[in-house]
Amino acid sequence: MDPVVTLKRPSVVDYSLCIFCQNHTAGLITSKASDHGLATVKHATSSRRKLRDSKNIDLINRLENVLDSAEAKTLVWHKMCYAHFTDKNKLERLQKTQVVDSKPEASCSRTGCSTNKLGLMHFLSNCYVEGSVDLSHDETNE
Ligand SMILES: [Zn+2]
Repeated sequence: MDPVVTLKRPSVVDYSLCIFCQNHTAGLITSKASDHGLATVKHATSSRRKLRDSKNIDLINRLENVLDSAEAKTLVWHKMCYAHFTDKNKLERLQKTQVVDSKPEASCSRTGCSTNKLGLMHFLSNCYVEGSVDLSHDETNE
């Protein structure tokens, strides 16, 4: 009954618009997807998925759905949007930031930044108690 409900539906793809930006930009001509273009986009999509390109996650989801459907061959896109998405330099940069980002996290959880202080205190108190017990023990025994 309520027509607003249909507007709320997410991931409705308008195939007459550029698949990347889904915007009608005046003056920008959309071109039809070629087989080669589709293969390139598919590759870029899976690369970005692997690299956890969170900025484009909606687009990645949309492309993954569309690229495997029968509609893939009817896709149109702005050459600029296509170039942006499949840009090898951008993908390489994503890969690099991934490596840089994951390093401190991995070493942090392994050594335990937050447990370091507690661990040290634990170590010190244990050492102190053991040392004093051992000393008094030796003294009383001899
Ligand atoms: Zn576009």
